[in-house]
Amino acid sequence: MSQTDTQHPTFADLELLSEVSQLLTLLDLDRVLQKVISLAAKAVGAAKASLFLHDEYDVDWGHIFVTRDLAPDEFFYVVRSVLDKGLAGWVLRHRQAAIVYDTDVDDRWIVFPDDSYEVGSALCVPLVYNQQVLAVVTLVHPEKNHFTDYHSRLMTIVANQATVAVRNAQLFNRLQAQQRQLETVLQAIPDVLLVLDEHGHILLINDAAGDFFGDTNPSLVIGRHLADFSENALAPVLEALQNSTTREDKQWLFEVRSERRKKDFQMTLSVWRDALNDLAGYVVAMHDVTTLRDLHRFKDEMLRLASHDLRAPLSLIAGYSDLLSMDIDPTLPSFEHIDVIKRSTERMNGLLDDLLRVEQVRRSPLELNEQVDLGALAAETVHDMQPMAGSKTQQLTDDINTDGMPGVVADPALIRRAMDNLVSNAVKYTPENGQILVRAYAKKGQFHFVVEDNGIGIPPEHLNRVFESFYRVKDDRAANVSGFGLGLSLVRTIIERHKGEVWVESEAGVGSKFGFWLPLPEQH
Ligand code: ADP
Repeated sequence: MSQTDTQHPTFADLELLSEVSQLLTLLDLDRVLQKVISLAAKAVGAAKASLFLHDEYDVDWGHIFVTRDLAPDEFFYVVRSVLDKGLAGWVLRHRQAAIVYDTDVDDRWIVFPDDSYEVGSALCVPLVYNQQVLAVVTLVHPEKNHFTDYHSRLMTIVANQATVAVRNAQLFNRLQAQQRQLETVLQAIPDVLLVLDEHGHILLINDAAGDFFGDTNPSLVIGRHLADFSENALAPVLEALQNSTTREDKQWLFEVRSERRKKDFQMTLSVWRDALNDLAGYVVAMHDVTTLRDLHRFKDEMLRLASHDLRAPLSLIAGYSDLLSMDIDPTLPSFEHIDVIKRSTERMNGLLDDLLRVEQVRRSPLELNEQVDLGALAAETVHDMQPMAGSKTQQLTDDINTDGMPGVVADPALIRRAMDNLVSNAVKYTPENGQILVRAYAKKGQFHFVVEDNGIGIPPEHLNRVFESFYRVKDDRAANVSGFGLGLSLVRTIIERHKGEVWVESEAGVGSKFGFWLPLPEQH
């Protein structure tokens, strides 16, 4: 039943529209929604109004404004029924306004038994944004045929304005929530974090950064230039900012020590970009590595002690046990005891040798004055390891394909040591009659050296730790294999000092593949 529409806009209608447009200045979503229903009710002379806010997937139960008092369980039941079968649900699905001229004959109007308020007619309009219904406003009146098409059109205009206001407030709420989330994350991070603009002014800091500057009040730090702080640890950042003319995406890594704080830091400096992908500034993250550095210093001191203080008494023990064994009848049990002492001192000497070798490789300058033929080194390694493999009746073969490969400036003794270690490990950790293949080849500007065995393999949880010093995998099949867990750490040190990389792939019970690559000189 439609009515003829003869109404024209009144001054009050225009005033109302101006009031609606003021909604745009509100940022509190609840206030916007409350105001939308009160203005809507006023606009069409409705006696009561309600609003459902609908988000992308479901009804936002926190934002349902109804004028009736409902108990929570009743509330859920009423709202669900209205949205499933009632007028609001119809408008939600059809995305257009609807009028119920007479609630007695239109079955979209659901009457609940405890309704104290008599409804004669109703008008319902959606707030549509981007083809999505954001909210639905229902207006009711006790008389039948109260609402006209004019009301419906007027409400559609009000709804359009209100949509923008609701959207605004929603976005603002979301931004605020995101900002709070970001701040919580920033403060929870124990590392020192600074966000700088492109000139080096501080835009944002976390608590740890406040402590670092000795100023827990961020407002005293924010806005100042990094150079205003007499903090020597920041010097590399200032230098990088001055030199970063290329404006490319880059990350710098520094090891710094703050003399004022007496702390060591590992510092990363990264570029951040704005929405247009222009350089907007930098993020500085400083991780406190003081304990680690102290441990390294302690380890260095221990190694120094080991080399000097342990060497002398050990050689005395070795010398005197040699003398003793000369005086003793070899058939006596004490002769056997002295032999155990001799073998133990040899083992201790071996450990000292290994330890000092790793330290030496780490510290001493590389002998880089030779063009080394890496293919020939690989072939020599395989050749020299044949007796060791033979003693376990293993098949040690090679596949060396380095013809035409340029010589590489490297320390040949060290590279040879790295190759030896990988091949001898393959022999050690492969049972008798096993197979070992050594491959060497050039590919994409890199020299590759790969040792493949069908030995005991390494379970996945140990794989990324085998290159650490003193790390050994506990495996019954290798119980008799001697070693200190230093070989692979030495290999890694050697290869990384030559700007290459080591890697491993392995499967327990199937075999292992250890390898490294080294950069080849560019060929013109
Ligand atoms: P070491 O052999 O003296 O123990 P390494 O540093 O050379 O020390 O090796 C560390 C550990 O890695 C070894 O103890 C062993 O558990 C494992 N590993 C190394 N090479 C192999 C291999 N080819 N197959 C299986 N396990 C290996």
